[in-house]
Formats: sequence, structure tokens, C-alpha cells
Amino acid sequence: MAVRRIVTAPDPKLSAKASPVTDLSDEICQLAADMIDTMYKAPGIGLAANQIGELVQVIVFDIHYAYAEPKDKKKVPTVLINPVISISEGEEFREEGCLSVPNFNIDVMRAAHVKVEGIDITGKPLKIDAEGLVARVLQHEIDHLEGKTLLDHASALKRSIYQRRVRKSQRGSK
Ligand code: ZN
Repeated sequence: MAVRRIVTAPDPKLSAKASPVTDLSDEICQLAADMIDTMYKAPGIGLAANQIGELVQVIVFDIHYAYAEPKDKKKVPTVLINPVISISEGEEFREEGCLSVPNFNIDVMRAAHVKVEGIDITGKPLKIDAEGLVARVLQHEIDHLEGKTLLDHASALKRSIYQRRVRKSQRGSK
């Protein structure tokens, strides 16, 4: 169990494509466990492996824990490996943020309903039929595996504002 450092844009790992997992090795199990710890610590509702600098197709999510009242907090993470969107329907416009693009929230158009297929950490097929926030998180995390972040959904103007802010803060920390 370990909380890992979350990389932030413009880290090149965030714009690289993750490779499919071909072997559910101990390393992959460890990676998934670290991703879960990192997600809860952040706190976030989803995390893709790219965000801790690992280019493999692993995502984790739990939409309830981060927003639950302290008395209702129960960790129920889902690990999904090699996810593929098989059906996407409808459209929904809603604000999103990302742990890898700090202090940057924009409205993003996503499919309202998706079916996603992959495998779980034991190698069993996992099919998720989702709408609402779960559908949105799945699409957001699968974007990461394809090397896309919220910045790719932003207008050129908003993207350049973020980039300018990052350059400024990098200068400030030197
Ligand atoms: Zn993200």
C-alpha cells in the first residue's frame, strides 16, 4: 500500500497512450492497490494509471467515498483493466475537474449512457452499464488512457490560460 505522486499537466505521461495489460502480474496488482490509496488520499473519485506515471490500461473509481458524510464513508473501489467503451448514447454537459489539471474546471460534453467492458483484477470479465456520474468518470478516465486530459476538451483560450499559469508557478518555484 502506497500513496503515489500524481503527475500534473504538462507531464508527457498524461499525453501518452497507455498499453493494454497482458499479464495480471504482482506488479499490476500492486499498481492497482497504490492507485486506490492515491485516489482516496487525494481525494478523488477516479484515477487512471497515467496519472501516477504508469502507461498501462488500469483505472480505479469510487464516486461515493469522497463526497460521503464521515459516518457513511465506506471504501468500495472498482478496478477496471483494459476498458473499452462498447456503447455510448446521449449527451450531457457538466462541469469536471481533474487531479492532474489542478484548479481547472470546465464544462465537458460526454455521453449520458455508456457500456464499458474490461476485466477486473482477477481477470474476470467486467461489464459496466453506467449513466450519470459513473458514465462521466469512466469516460474521463478512459480519456487519460488515450493520452487525453481536460485540456483537450478546453477552448484554446482556456488552455493557454492554464499553460501560462503553470509556467508562472514553475518560474516562481525556481
Ligand atoms: Zn483526470
